[in-house]
Formats: sequence, C-alpha cells, structure tokens
Amino acid sequence: MTPVQAMERAIHYLDRAHESGFKTKAFVHALEVLRALPDEEINERSAAGTLTDLEGVGAATARLVAEALAGGDSAYLAKLDAETVVPITPGGARYRAALKGDCHLHSRWSDGGATIESMAHAASELGHEYMVLTDHSPRLTIAHGLDRNRLTQQIADVAELNRRLAPFRILTGMEVDILEDGTLDLGDDMLAELDVVVASVHSKLRMERQPMTERMVRAVASPHVDILGHCTGRLIGKREPSTFDPDYVFAACAQFHTAVEINCRPERLDPPRELLQMAVDYNCWFAIDSDAHATGQLEWQPHGCDRAAELGVPLERVINTMSADELIAWTTGREQR
Ligand SMILES: [Zn+2]
Ligand SMILES: [Zn+2]
Repeated sequence: MTPVQAMERAIHYLDRAHESGFKTKAFVHALEVLRALPDEEINERSAAGTLTDLEGVGAATARLVAEALAGGDSAYLAKLDAETVVPITPGGARYRAALKGDCHLHSRWSDGGATIESMAHAASELGHEYMVLTDHSPRLTIAHGLDRNRLTQQIADVAELNRRLAPFRILTGMEVDILEDGTLDLGDDMLAELDVVVASVHSKLRMERQPMTERMVRAVASPHVDILGHCTGRLIGKREPSTFDPDYVFAACAQFHTAVEINCRPERLDPPRELLQMAVDYNCWFAIDSDAHATGQLEWQPHGCDRAAELGVPLERVINTMSADELIAWTTGREQR
C-alpha cells in the first residue's frame, strides 16, 4: 500500500463513520499535500522524521505514511477499521446480502468527493455488481449540477470506464431536481437516454401541502422517473420534513411503478418510519440507496436495510436486489407503460 492509498483508506473509514470533524478534514488536507510531493521526497522525509514540518501534515499522517512505507499491515489502519465498522441488525443483514447494487450516489462531477472510478472500485469491493451514477442536475448550481453537455461527456466517460472495469457495471443516471411545478430539471430526450433516474425535491421544501403534493405526484408520474429520492427532504435535528399528502404520493408511486427511495444517509433516513409504513401498505417498489458523496459512504446501506427489515418491506419489492440487466429491463418497461 502506498502512503497515498493508506491515507485514502483512512479517509474512507472516517467517512463511513460519518466522521466529518477535524480529523477527517486534517487527513483530506494532508492527502492533498502528499499527492503533490514526489515519492522520493515522501520517503526521505518519512525516514528523517520531517514530514510533520510540512504545513498540514500531522503526527497521525506521519505515522500512517511510515507504516505504509514499512509494508505489511498498518496498526493505525486496523484500529480505524475496527472503530468505524457500520453496524447492522440480523434482520437488516438479510436485506444487505440481497442487494446487488446502489442506485443513488455522486462523484466529483457534482458535489461528491471521489472520482467515478474510485466510487466504482469501492462499490465493487463491497460486493456490488453495479452502481448507478446519479450526479445532480443543472439547477443545483451549488452542487455543480451537470448540464446537457457535461452529462453527455459523463455518459461517454462511463462507457469507457465500463470497458475497463467489466464485469462491474456503472449504469448511467442522474438525480434530477423536481422543479416547483413538478416538471424536471432536464429534457425528456436526455432523461430517456439514462439507465436510471432519481428525482428529488431540493428547493422550496417549505411549500404548502397541496402544491407540494401536486408537484411530487407530477414528477412521480413521469415515465422517466424511476425512483423518488429522499421524499421528505428532512435533515434530522436540522430541517423538518416537508409536508405533502402521502396517500396521493405513494398511491402514485405504486400506480406508476416509481420506487420510493429508502435513503440511507444517517442525517436523512428518509422516509421516516410512519411514511415508510404507508409506502409498504401501498405496495410500492423501493430502492435502498446510500446517496454516497464519498467512497466510505457507500457503506451506509445497512442503515436503510435495518429500516426495511423493521417495517417489513418485501424484499422482492426492492429494485436493487435485481441484477443490472433486470433493473434496466424494469426501468425500460416502466417507460413503455
Ligand atoms: Zn438529493
Ligand atoms: Zn443525492
């Protein structure tokens, strides 16, 4: 393991523990410093004990680098690994074991922290057969949403990556914004080209109940929308769930075969339990998705698996238990309904 790989691994572990504090920021910064250095200088400085003379490189980084250069197992990484394992209930483990992919995640192209390739490697290491790349749509400018041109470029890049990474597959997709009137932030022609489309509300979350219901139902009814992302938009302890009539929204999801996402981000866990129970009662389809913005966050699916087990989500209704081909047949079949 190279020093840079060891640092990336450490950051992966911290990310999966949702550790976004000082230690993670310090490691991310130190990693940038290391990446800019020639290998010989890293070697020399590590041997001479002068790595910490560099701005932004602390004792923990110096130790990790020394252990990586020494070869063999790093005690520091082993400790971090043990401390950050994502817990899962026995019930949740049954769901996790059945998942073959992840249908909602971001790369550096929008607001993610890792390259598409790094995300693919991490997803593959977790045992997935595929992942759906769902960067943001243009309206979300703070998240560097992709316009048509960048999305077209990304689709070409994904095709190239797929040639190299086979049999692992990256499916094309987007997390498209649901605009205020329920239309989508990308043309139908582009949406039709994508394998899987997640649609989410990111703006005007405090809309009145009735217009929000109409907005969501309209989006869910689109033949191009395969998954309704984090339906309430809540951020636990920070932002209240938005209000809509769940009877209409989940009935529409069931009617139009639009999967309800079980968003696994610890600060989202969306839908909340009562709503997830309603979606189960409406016999909706589901997708248990990490919404990862970093490689370590791909390990968050257990959070949603636990919820699914707790509320008795039928396993055969979870679309990412399908193989990639089955999933594409499912999304294409929806469009032709
Ligand atoms: Zn989102
Ligand atoms: Zn997202």
